[in-house]
Order: sequence, then structure tokens, then C-alpha cells
Amino acid sequence: MEFREVDSPGHAHSLSADEVREDEPGMTNTRQSSAACPHCQHPLEKRPSRKKKCPHCGQYIYVRTRPSDRTKVLVTEKQAEEIEHQWDALHRAQAEARLLETPGYGPAKKHLKRSLGRDPTAHEVTQELARREMAQHRADKNWGLYRNSILDIAQSLQTQGDEKTALTAYMEVSYLDLNGPRNCCGVDDPVLLAEYPPFEPSDAILSPGIVWEVAEGRRVLGLTEAQLRETFIAAARTLHAELKLPVSPENAWTLLKRALSERAGWADPNVDS
Ligand SMILES: [Zn+2]
Repeated sequence: MEFREVDSPGHAHSLSADEVREDEPGMTNTRQSSAACPHCQHPLEKRPSRKKKCPHCGQYIYVRTRPSDRTKVLVTEKQAEEIEHQWDALHRAQAEARLLETPGYGPAKKHLKRSLGRDPTAHEVTQELARREMAQHRADKNWGLYRNSILDIAQSLQTQGDEKTALTAYMEVSYLDLNGPRNCCGVDDPVLLAEYPPFEPSDAILSPGIVWEVAEGRRVLGLTEAQLRETFIAAARTLHAELKLPVSPENAWTLLKRALSERAGWADPNVDS
């Protein structure tokens, strides 16, 4: 009954070759036995696993995973930024591909065109579709699918550059994930619901892709941990009250924070101490 979106950066194959450059000059592939500094090309005795100063030229070497082939590469700071952009492009391309496959895209577009008196933008159609889907999934108590609709909205907002609202939506997704959302297919029978509750925290899976998005959102918006917590608690409280979720916003924050800490990029664990 569970329906989980494959949204982790580890499962993205929709980006065309043009959008991700395969071989950046100066990037060193992990599959090669030797490692070289991306600045001075000097061979390194030990391949760094985190940000480190080159012992030969003194410049910082960054370690990043390249989206095109999921290979860890040694790069300059500028190349590291380029890789971040490639990840962004990848997520956008995924969102776009999902949109075109969505059933109901045509009717929603027509409906919007009539009410707006003009051609709606792709973003407007996405939002309209997601709103329709959310209402339906909510009525059917299909909370896994409901969660996916919020993810659609988050990705669409991100494409529009609305990082702040997108982050809130990603946090809603993470909060729902931590509650173990299930698809109840409209079941109303209390006996059945007791046996198969709409939310089961012991089934909870916090998607690495969502944790990544929350960490990215925090980075882009320059939020402190306290501000991030505040945003999460506010978003979670509303859902907690509306859907009577079993995991409290505070406990969910503890779990999300742990997942964020385990992920590189949070509190800059890339720097060797
Ligand atoms: Zn060097």
C-alpha cells in the first residue's frame, strides 16, 4: 500500500547528457588509483575524503559527488559550486519530467486557461494539479500520495526560485515521512483503521533526498539552526493539529536534526579538524 517517491539524488537518471558535463578538466575520478590536486595537478599521497589543503600548493581541495556518474571527485571551490548547480539542474529536470507525465495535466491547463483568460505558466499548472491531487488524496486518506503532492509543490516552488516556501514544503514532507504515512484508500471502518492506522511511525523512512533539500534550503537562505527549527516546528504544528499525527513536532525535529547532522554540509563537517 505504501507509495514512496524515488527522490533521492542517488536515483536520478532523467537529466540529459547536455545538462551535466561528464568530464570537467581537473576533476579526478575515484576509480583512478592515483589522486591529484585539482589546482596544481600534483599527485597526492593520500586521497582526501574531506575538504583539505593541498600540501604542495596550499590551496583547498574540495570533495564532491558528481551527479552525472555519482563519482566522488577532487575539485576546486569553483568546480564545487558548479557541481551544486548541476544538482539543482538535475532536480529541476526531474520535477519537469514528472509534471509532463502527470495525468490530468491537460484538463488542469484548460481549466486554468478559462479562469485566467490566458495561457497558464507551467508553474501555475503544477500548483493547480498538486492542489487537486492533495484534496483527493486527503479525502481518500492516501497519506503517502498526499505527501508526494506536497513534494511536487516544493519542487515547483524551487523551480520558481521561491526557496523559502519550498523549504517549508520540504519540511512538511519530512514531517509526514517521520510519521510513516500510509495509503488507506478511503477506508473509514474504525476496526480496519485500528489495525492499519493511517500513520505508522515504526514504518517511517526519512528520504535522503528530502534531508538534502532541507540542508540545501537552509544553506541557500542562510538560516541559523534556531531559525530552521522554528520554521520546522511552525510547519509541523499545523499538520500535527490537522491530521492528528502521532509524532510530535518537537520529537520529529530531533530526528530530522540527527539526519541533517549525519549529512555532509551541516555545520561544515567537510573541514578536517
Ligand atoms: Zn595543489
